[in-house]
Amino acid sequence: MGTRLFHHCSGRDLPDPARPAFNSFVVSGNLVTQVGFGLEGHTAWKDLPRIDLGGAVVLPAFADSHVHFLQTGLTFLGCRLEAATSLDEVLDRLRAHAVRSPDEWLLAWNLDETMLREKRLPTVAEIDRAVADRPVWISRVDLHSAIPNSRAVAWARRVHPPAALHHDYYYRDDYVVLFSRLMRDLPRPMKERALELARRRCLARGITTVHALEGGWAATNDDVELVADFLARPGFHGVVYHQSDDPGLARRRGWPRLGGCLMVDGSFGSRTAALAAPYADDPATAGVVYRDDANLERLVSLCADQGLQLAMHAIGDVAIDRLVAAYRAGRRRHGPRPLGNRIEHCELPTSAAIAGAAEAGALLAVQPAFEVLWGGPTAMYARRLGPDRARRTNPFRTLRAHGLPLAGGSDSPVTPLDPFLGIHGFVNHPTPEERLDLSEALAAFIVAPHAFAGEDRLRGHLRPGYIADFVCLSRDPCQVPASRLRDLRVDRVFVGGQEVSTDHSQEEPA
Ligand SMILES: [Zn+2]
Ligand SMILES: [Zn+2]
Repeated sequence: MGTRLFHHCSGRDLPDPARPAFNSFVVSGNLVTQVGFGLEGHTAWKDLPRIDLGGAVVLPAFADSHVHFLQTGLTFLGCRLEAATSLDEVLDRLRAHAVRSPDEWLLAWNLDETMLREKRLPTVAEIDRAVADRPVWISRVDLHSAIPNSRAVAWARRVHPPAALHHDYYYRDDYVVLFSRLMRDLPRPMKERALELARRRCLARGITTVHALEGGWAATNDDVELVADFLARPGFHGVVYHQSDDPGLARRRGWPRLGGCLMVDGSFGSRTAALAAPYADDPATAGVVYRDDANLERLVSLCADQGLQLAMHAIGDVAIDRLVAAYRAGRRRHGPRPLGNRIEHCELPTSAAIAGAAEAGALLAVQPAFEVLWGGPTAMYARRLGPDRARRTNPFRTLRAHGLPLAGGSDSPVTPLDPFLGIHGFVNHPTPEERLDLSEALAAFIVAPHAFAGEDRLRGHLRPGYIADFVCLSRDPCQVPASRLRDLRVDRVFVGGQEVSTDHSQEEPA
């Protein structure tokens, strides 16, 4: 691509997105080389090819700091059941999907029987009546159990003979073994189509960079490399985090980082996030710690020795305390690193943990859409944690006040690939004292993820020397009421100064 001039826009940059910073800019190759006002009238640039942006508000493109990319694509490829309200509707959706889909397996996602009129899961025989010509695998919404049809049962008997149906579903260890086997054995072309759907959805939402957290119990290193090779193609940017205790693949591929959702604990939804006091709606449990202090210390040291940034999942107060202690000890032992270690989620930190995380130079990858979906006095967090702790989840303002950097993410497929939903979550936190202002919220989805990956000298701004990834909006986010931020959409998206299509309406999941 040669040099061209973009003009007729209201260009914004961080940290002050409300102030027009330019109305025209020059891109050479994929880099911004000049920004200013009225460049089209200047002798140096007046003869360049011009692209008229139609008066749009222009922002640097979005980055999502926490995406399970392959898993996200597979949910787009499969049959979505979250909106079903009856067993008949579940079966109808399976039938309709089977007609549309050429795939060897029919994967269905997000079945929640508590939302069905019948309050039960379908049986194997019922699924057979809907789809019998190929194996069907219906994942429950929590990804802790699955319902097969007869063909899938036959497959399960073959690949894991001890597997036993509990009523008509697989759960516990059988589920884990079978699901990981299924994910590994899915045909490669199906995985490639899944990745393409995830990429297109990102672009349609103005996301041109993802941090892809790949691998782990349900994936092989081959899958991680498949994703990495896919993300290395031009037209999109991916930063791969290998979710493993073993740095072998990261070293071989030259990725200076390790981890992702490497679990210190579980989640509030499944009551496995590790808490100091029991769950409000199940006093028999206070969650689970999956890693002891020695394991954390070993992993922190291993990464420090090999020059790798480490990212770990911690949600409950106990898990965060332990992870912060390990990060602080690592910092004392090995000194500051060029890039801080990441805490993924960091939902219920104590004040001591917040101070400790700042001292350890930790970077926090947070998911503000969680508060939109589950925060506030009446939703899931309040039920699980009780009112006092629920007021202390995701204390964004307090974290910022301690100087902790926050990068926004979706944890897709847990919440949608949609930076405006996340920005909405930051600005409309159910606890008013913990809200961020709009410029901080935008920065968390535009600038901070690049800093977390050490790429902030190249991405996240529209300035000379930066990659020309940007979005055009017909509405100015700074003029939209806070309560409507989640309704915003991008109109046009440019990657390296080249426009990409954002019209994928026919591929929206059902
Ligand atoms: Zn996680
Ligand atoms: Zn995650």
